[in-house]
Amino acid sequence: MNKSLILVVEDDTSVRNLITTTLKAHEYRYLTAPNGQSAILEASSHNPDIVLLDLGLPDMDGVEIIKKIRTWSNMPIIVISARSEDTDKIDALDAGADDYLTKPFSVEELLARLRVTQRRLSMMQKVSPPVETVVFVNGKLRVDYVAGGCAYLNEEELHLTPIEYKLLCLLTRNIGKVLTHTFLTQSIWGSSWDNDIASLRVFMATLRKKIEKEPNSPQYIQTHIGVGYRMLKVE
Ligand code: CA
Repeated sequence: MNKSLILVVEDDTSVRNLITTTLKAHEYRYLTAPNGQSAILEASSHNPDIVLLDLGLPDMDGVEIIKKIRTWSNMPIIVISARSEDTDKIDALDAGADDYLTKPFSVEELLARLRVTQRRLSMMQKVSPPVETVVFVNGKLRVDYVAGGCAYLNEEELHLTPIEYKLLCLLTRNIGKVLTHTFLTQSIWGSSWDNDIASLRVFMATLRKKIEKEPNSPQYIQTHIGVGYRMLKVE
């Protein structure tokens, strides 16, 4: 399973070496690019399975690289950013990045992010492209996209409000991917004012009460403080 090809885009030699050493030790194949221009070249000519992209590059804004790649590919992109680049990180997720790592990060964190992304990839590949998934299953949660908005937990129907159901669908359809507050509020209300983000928190809390056994230590929906939410794969 660990034979994925990873493109490592990072101008800092020591960080790049840390990443490639880790990848090698865990039997990933990898390519490296020290700047934006070679990143785009490598991504287009080798079609990697996952891109690890540092946002602060000497020649190009990382967000621009994501936008370019997204014109031809849905390859998963995990952004690597310094704390000072928090707004860039959110822009990157909105531009189509799948996940992020904040510097400094541990090797375990890097490997965990790669595993989440690989699981997301294999779930996406299971779904044959032209036919949309009709029923989504994750752990004890089941969402029937066609049967008029039905969702079940332990085979018991959940009584969700239309907004809770919409929120649940956005999360399930993007399982494994971090969805930003802006993405979610835009998808639900078509806007992303502070008020919408406050409403989002309220709806998220009521949704969690219905699907999580312990809403304070959620199993399905993970919070990314200041960023957004992600649905996790539950075994
Ligand atoms: Ca950098």
